[in-house]
Amino acid sequence: MNEQTLAIHAGYEKDAQGTMAVPIYQSTAYEFRNTEHAANLFALKELGNIYTRLMNPTTDVFEKRFNALEHGGGAVGTASGMSAIFYAIANVAEAGDNIIVASQVYGGTTTLTGHTLKRFGIETRYFNVNNPSQIEALIDEKSKIILFESITNPSIDVADFDAIVAIAQKHNIMTCVDNTVATPILCKPLTIGCDVVVHSASKYTTGQGLAIGGMIVEREGLVDLIKDNPRYAHFNEPDASYHGLVYSDLPLPAFTLRVRLALLRDLGAAPSPFNSWLYIQGLETLPLRMRQHSNSALEVAQYLESHPKVKSVNYPGLASNANHALANKYFAKGSSGLLSFEVESKDVAQAIADKTEIFKVVVNIGDSKSIITHPASTTHQQLSAQELIDCGIPGGLIRLSVGLEDSADLIADLEKALS
Ligand code: PLP
Repeated sequence: MNEQTLAIHAGYEKDAQGTMAVPIYQSTAYEFRNTEHAANLFALKELGNIYTRLMNPTTDVFEKRFNALEHGGGAVGTASGMSAIFYAIANVAEAGDNIIVASQVYGGTTTLTGHTLKRFGIETRYFNVNNPSQIEALIDEKSKIILFESITNPSIDVADFDAIVAIAQKHNIMTCVDNTVATPILCKPLTIGCDVVVHSASKYTTGQGLAIGGMIVEREGLVDLIKDNPRYAHFNEPDASYHGLVYSDLPLPAFTLRVRLALLRDLGAAPSPFNSWLYIQGLETLPLRMRQHSNSALEVAQYLESHPKVKSVNYPGLASNANHALANKYFAKGSSGLLSFEVESKDVAQAIADKTEIFKVVVNIGDSKSIITHPASTTHQQLSAQELIDCGIPGGLIRLSVGLEDSADLIADLEKALS
């Protein structure tokens, strides 16, 4: 089936009621046929519903549909994008290990890796996503995963997948891609050699800023990298917390199964069935929306590039952009809805953000409603003027998340604000 058809039908089989829309199974627990049935489910001799912290029939449709769109081998939903990222890391790394992370990642990922995981004894080694050759020197036998974003938020760089994957494969180490900004519609990292994909479903998946959620998808055949690999010994040894289960021996997707059985069991950041239902509604139109977000963002970027008050525009879809060749290589259908541009000063940037009417001053991305953010006065407010320059966020920088309004109206809104 093609993508738009999968987005509407994948993962849903109607029950006796024949309900066209996926039902919301709002239930904490499930009745077993008898104690033997319960025992079989706990022992994985049969697969089925036990408790909504581990699985839920509505969430199951969301997972299967997302998995189909990513061309994955297994998926597990989580309560937020941050819990998806944390679980992907915690699934492979423990105290004394290290992880290798791009410097250009979402701020929450920076604080998770640089502060919270440090307190758990997991060291983070950073590389510049524009210079993947830095990765090799960072890898040792304790390195567990390489984490980067396909399109980075907020710097809007594009990862060189082939270069990163080549290094990872040489060292038998997993790659994990945060594919939130690109979505599986513009980029399918698992089909170009990456091992695990994580998402914030809070962005383009709901598409209307409706709920917080996350997703982890693993590639088909990932167990071949895990099997007998000393980096992932805990997947190859009996898990004492699950009566001696050896994850790599099972005919099931080992990575996401362990997230479900060990991490959702013990840490519990599971999606609510209602939120999973919202994401399913969002997925139905994701292919259509991503095309529109990308087309409108390109039009807005081209307009801004020609404006005399705009010093520079950062959008990978622009022919003038440093990431344009990589965007063309990996994102055949468009470069998503995020762009940034720089004006003369912090004051001018703030005045522009305050003057727009359709673009709302919000710190979010991936909404149908267009958003304008001034990082220097919000997300990056604590940094000094020099620190802002060092991390590529000058005071005059404005970030836009281009929504689904008519692009002519969006351009007119910016025109007025820039005048
Ligand atoms: N990854 C990226 C690229 C993001 O932009 C965000 C949030 O903005 C997250 C992860 C975190 O997701 P959530 O807010 O769903 O926890």
